Amino acid sequence: MKKTVKDIDVTGKRVIVRCDFNVPQDETGAITDDIRITSALPTINYLLDNGAKLILMSHLGRPKAGPEQKYSLAPVAKRLAELLGKEILFFPVNEVINEKVRKTASELQVGQVLLLENVRFRKEETKNEVAFSKELADLGDIFVNDAFGSAHRAHCSTAGISAFLPSVSGFLMEKEIKYLGTALENPERPFLAIMGGAKVNDKILVIESLLNIVDSLIIGGGMAYTFLAAKGYAVGTSLFESGMEDMARSLMEKAKNKGVRLLLPIDVIAAKEFKNETDFARYDADKIPMDRMGLDIGEKSILLFSEEIKRAKTIFWNGPMGVFEMPNFEAGTKTIAEALAESDAVTIIGGGDSAAAVREFGFSDKLSHVSTGGGASLEYLEGKILPGVGILLDK
Ligand code: AMP
Repeated sequence: MKKTVKDIDVTGKRVIVRCDFNVPQDETGAITDDIRITSALPTINYLLDNGAKLILMSHLGRPKAGPEQKYSLAPVAKRLAELLGKEILFFPVNEVINEKVRKTASELQVGQVLLLENVRFRKEETKNEVAFSKELADLGDIFVNDAFGSAHRAHCSTAGISAFLPSVSGFLMEKEIKYLGTALENPERPFLAIMGGAKVNDKILVIESLLNIVDSLIIGGGMAYTFLAAKGYAVGTSLFESGMEDMARSLMEKAKNKGVRLLLPIDVIAAKEFKNETDFARYDADKIPMDRMGLDIGEKSILLFSEEIKRAKTIFWNGPMGVFEMPNFEAGTKTIAEALAESDAVTIIGGGDSAAAVREFGFSDKLSHVSTGGGASLEYLEGKILPGVGILLDK
C-alpha cells in the first residue's frame, strides 16, 4: 500500500502535484475533452481544503524541438480556473522555471495555485536528469503524484523529483492502484480480459502476462485477424501482422496449457474499403472473402462474448472490437461496452481508445473503474513496477 495525501500533513506546505493534463485539443487549441482535468479535482480540492499551497505540473503532447507554443498549458490554466472558480497563477515561460516562477512559488499563500508550463519544454524532463528534478523539487515541500497515465515513464516530474521530497499518491493514482492492483493480485473469479485494438505487436507482452492470471481471454478488433490467420483462416484484406502468426500460435498454445478459455471472433463485419460509407456484410470468420477486410465483430461473436461477460466476476478491457470511430462498425464495441455496464462484475477499462469509447457511448458511470492510463495500465498488468508508483512512500 502506498501513502496518499491523507497520510501526510499538508497544512501550510507547498505541495507540488504531478497531474496528467495531457488533454486532447482541436486545431484552434480548444480543449475537446477535459476529463483529465476534472479527474484531478478531488486531489486538488482536498489539498486546498486542508490548507496547502499548490504547485501543479504536467506535460502536454510531445514537443520535439524544445518549447512549442501549441503545447503550452495556457488553455489548461484557463479551464482549471473555471472549474475551481479561482485564479490560477501561470507564467508561460519556455524554461518552465525561472526567477519569477521560483519567487511566486516561495511566496505562495495558503489556497493559492500555481501551474507550471509544460514540463516537456525542458529537454531534461524525459531524460530524468537530476538537475531538473532538483529544480522542480526546490519549489515545494511535498511531492504528490496523481498522474497515473505517465507513471510508466521515469521522467523528472514523475519519478526523479521523489529523490528530494517525501512522495505520496493523489486520489486518482490511489484508485488506479487499487483496481489494477486487486485485478493483478487478488481478482474475484472468473477473471475475464478482453483485448482489442489495432496491433498485436503492441500488446503481446500484456497478453502473455494476462494468460497467467485470467480464466478467459477474448481477442477482438484488428488484432484478432493475426490469430485467425494463425488458425489457418483466410482473412482477406483485414489488418494482419505478417510474421506474428507464430507468436499468435504460441499464445494460443499457452492459453490451452494454462486452461485459459481463449475466444476469438466467430464472425465479422467485412467491407471492401476502409471507410464508413461502403458496402459491408457479415461473414463467418473462416469465410472472409479475399477482397474484404473485417472492420467489426459480427452478431454471433457479440453473443458469444456477451455470454462470457455474464459469467465473469472481474473484467479488464483494453482496445475496441472494431473501427468504432465509424458508425457502421461501432456495434461490436458499443455492445461489449453495454454488456460491461450491465455486468455486476468489477469492470476495469484500461485507458486509451476503450476508455474513449465507453465515454462516447455514455457507459463510464456504470463501470467500476475507467483507467486514465492506456500504456500505464497495460504495463501495470504485465506486473512491472511503474517508476511513478515505485517511488511513492509505503504505508
Ligand atoms: P489500439 O491503439 O491498438 O488500441 O487500436 C485502436 C484502434 O484500432 C482504433 O482506432 C480502431 O479503429 C482500430 N481497429 C479496431 N478494430 C479494427 C479492425 N478490425 N481493423 C482496423 N482497425 C481496427
